[in-house]
Amino acid sequence: MPVKGWIEVSDLYCKGCELCVHACPQAVMNLDMERLTPKGYHPVHLSAEGCTGCAICALVCPEAALTVYRETPNRALRAAPAAG
Ligand code: SF4
Ligand code: SF4
Repeated sequence: MPVKGWIEVSDLYCKGCELCVHACPQAVMNLDMERLTPKGYHPVHLSAEGCTGCAICALVCPEAALTVYRETPNRALRAAPAAG
């Protein structure tokens, strides 16, 4: 089963430079032409299924605007509150 990932984009930091778009090996990122950030840029978003959570996009982003998540088999366990 393929690994499933997803990203969060900070509207405060993304400047729409598209470095991540071109770096994504799955080609699932694009500028969101429907939205503008407070600074007036079109931010990136996932435009298709297939993100693997590889985090290459986050590594190349000069603004540290991306947070990458990856689904793991014990995700529910991790999300549970600490015992005690
Ligand atoms: S590399 Fe960073 S700043 Fe550039 S478009 Fe992607 S998320 Fe936005
Ligand atoms: S984590 Fe990897 S596959 Fe997902 S959007 Fe970023 S570069 Fe693309």
